[in-house]
Amino acid sequence: MSQPVSASTIIGQFQCIQCGYQLAGLSPQSVCPECGTPVAESIKGDGLAFASVEYLRTIARGLSTVRWAALLTVLIFIGVVLANALLWAHLPSWWAAVGAKLVYLLPFGLNAVGWWLLAGNDPMLPPERDTPMRSLARYSAWVLVVAWAFRSGFAPLSPSVASVAEIVIPVVILAHVVAAGLFLRHLALRAPRRLIAARARRLVFACIALGVLLAMGKALNYFGLSAPSRLAGTRGTPARWLFFLHGANFFIILGLMLYLASNLYSITGQLRADVRTFLVRRSPS
Ligand SMILES: [Zn+2]
Repeated sequence: MSQPVSASTIIGQFQCIQCGYQLAGLSPQSVCPECGTPVAESIKGDGLAFASVEYLRTIARGLSTVRWAALLTVLIFIGVVLANALLWAHLPSWWAAVGAKLVYLLPFGLNAVGWWLLAGNDPMLPPERDTPMRSLARYSAWVLVVAWAFRSGFAPLSPSVASVAEIVIPVVILAHVVAAGLFLRHLALRAPRRLIAARARRLVFACIALGVLLAMGKALNYFGLSAPSRLAGTRGTPARWLFFLHGANFFIILGLMLYLASNLYSITGQLRADVRTFLVRRSPS
């Protein structure tokens, strides 16, 4: 493997990490003549282009698995909604009690396997360049599987346990997606892909917005269920507003969840394509 020399020019086969241009003969302080990426970015050591082949293979598998899990979550969500709407009278009683929730263990389990691969330690990366989001994304995926299995496997839960689960599970999901977004941003910056990194950051903001809306929905439920008469005022206007807010909140939450899943799907797809390109470049021809 060729190395940049500390003197004024680069020798040997060194490619621009953005466009693949041969950088031999250029100064490490200059920019790529093809795409303008600073040469320094192509020769710094923590770029994914310089990660070990073994690490790149592992995260490529992890990215694929997480991508499938995101797609499968949406497909199962749509499938469950359709099944409940169209076949309700024909569905067995265990479906309503357990089955409709238990099926999500499949994408959540797949997601946990994917994050196990994707968020493993990169032995080549100096510890100070690592991010705590890596471990958080990795372990929260498994916490979600355990919490979800507990919630759907032991149904019906006692009311107090059920109300705790109703808070804990969304918090675990949101924490996982925030950590996942920040870790994907970290990977994208190592690719380096600034646009993908920016999209990963938007994923985090969307997730925080989703958390606020879910909390709002809970608050509306709380007021709507516990004190409808107090809210229903003299002309019934507050009750109508409450109804409207509930509906709007529901559709915004649904839209945000679809946005999160589709964005996760496309970010992991783009990063996987990059990792595969690095693997092709590194494989001896
Ligand atoms: Zn270039």
